[in-house]
Amino acid sequence: MKVFKFGGASVKDATGIKNVSEIIEKYADNDTLIVVSATGKTTNALESVVASFFDEDGKALEKLDHIRELHFNICKGLLGESNHSVYSQLNDIIADVKKKLETYRLDSYNYVYDQTVSAGELLSSVILSAYLNEKGIKNSWLDVRDVLRTDETYREGVVDWKETTERSNKILKPLLKESKVVTQGFIGSTPHYSTTTLGREGSDYTAAIFANILDAENQTIWKDVPGVMNGDPRKFQDAVFIDELTYLEAVEMTYYGASVIHPKTIKPIQNKKIPLWVKSFINPEGKGTKVYEASTALKYPPIRVLKENQTLLTFHTKDFSFVPDDTVGELLKAFAKANLKINIIQTGAISLQAVVTNVPEKIAHVIELVEGHFNIKQDDDLTILTIRHYNDEIIAKHLIGKEVIIGQKRASTYQALFKLKKD
Ligand code: ASP
Repeated sequence: MKVFKFGGASVKDATGIKNVSEIIEKYADNDTLIVVSATGKTTNALESVVASFFDEDGKALEKLDHIRELHFNICKGLLGESNHSVYSQLNDIIADVKKKLETYRLDSYNYVYDQTVSAGELLSSVILSAYLNEKGIKNSWLDVRDVLRTDETYREGVVDWKETTERSNKILKPLLKESKVVTQGFIGSTPHYSTTTLGREGSDYTAAIFANILDAENQTIWKDVPGVMNGDPRKFQDAVFIDELTYLEAVEMTYYGASVIHPKTIKPIQNKKIPLWVKSFINPEGKGTKVYEASTALKYPPIRVLKENQTLLTFHTKDFSFVPDDTVGELLKAFAKANLKINIIQTGAISLQAVVTNVPEKIAHVIELVEGHFNIKQDDDLTILTIRHYNDEIIAKHLIGKEVIIGQKRASTYQALFKLKKD
C-alpha cells in the first residue's frame, strides 16, 4: 500500500481538486491512504477566527461564514448546485465550531486554537472524498481523530504510537481492504476526544506516521515544486532540482529550516526504510525527488537554506563567573523551560550567545528566568544562512552585501548569522 499527501496549495480550488483526483485515479492503488491538508490559506483564516475570539472584536462568526462560503464555492465548482450531502456536512463542521466558540473561556488559547483550526482539514477532506466518489473513485472518509492519538499538548500534540497503532489496526486497516481512504493531516485527538494539532505544516508528519504503522511501500508528498531543490526557488533563482537524497541529508536540510518537507517526517519513514517521494502535482509525470537509504554515497550540489526572523541573545555573567564551567546548564534549562529552540550557540569565557527564532513571549520568558545573573543584549532582524556541502567560492558568493555576525564552519555545514548591509 502507498500513502499520498496533498498540501493546501494542491486543493486550493475546484480546479486543484479536479487535478488531485486525476492524480489519484492515475497513480494511487486501491488501498492507498490519502492524507489532505486544509485548502489554500484556510488554516491562516481559521487562525484569524481564533484571534478575533480572543480579541473579542465580534468578527469570529462572520469570518467562519466566509470560510464556509469559500468551501461551498469549491463544491459548486465540483458538484454544481446539487443537493449533495457534502453541503450539509460542511454546514455541520462550521456549526460545530460556532457552537463550541460559545462555550470557551478566554484562558485556554492553545485548546481553543486546536478545536477551531482543525476544521480546515475536516472541510477539505469531506470535499475531496465526496468528489472522488462522485467520479467513481471509490474511497471512504475517515475522521483521523478516531485513530491518531496524542497527549494533551495542544498545538503540538505528542503522538501516542502504541494507541495509534492499535487503532489503525482495528479501524484503518479494515477500511483499506475495501477501498482507498481519505483522511485529514495535521490533527489528532486526546484520549478524551479533544482535538489536537501536530504543529503548523504537520500533515507531512501525519502521512509519515501512517506510512510507518501500515508498512507502506512508499510515501509521496505532492507539492507545487518539481521535487526537492538545492534552495527555495523563491529565494535562490539558480536553484536546481535534486534527484535523490539520503534520509540523513533530508533530516539535516529540514533541521536547518528547509520547508519543503516537515522536519518530523523523516524519522518514521527512515525507521522502516520506507522511500519518500517529493513530486509535483503540477507535473505529476515529472521524476520527483526520492529520499531513501542509498547504498552508495550520493553527491550533492551545495544546498542553501535561509532562516529568517532570527534574534541574537548575548548573555554576560554579572559576577565574572565562567560561563562554560558554571552557568551553561542554568541557561540551557531556561531555554528548555521556555520551549525556545536554540539554532546557533557560541560560548566565550564570561558570555554565551544564542540565536533563536524571534518568538517574543518565549524570549521574554527566558530573560525573566536568568536576568538575575546576566546582563542580556538582544539583536533582532537577523537571518541564518546554512550551506551544506559548501566551498569557499560558494560562501563568498552568498555573503555579498551581508554583514556576518557569527560564522561557523563544520565538516559539511557552513552557517552564517547575518544582517543586510545598509547601503
Ligand atoms: N493545514 C495545516 C497548516 O497549514 C497543516 C498542513 O498544511 O500541513 O499548517
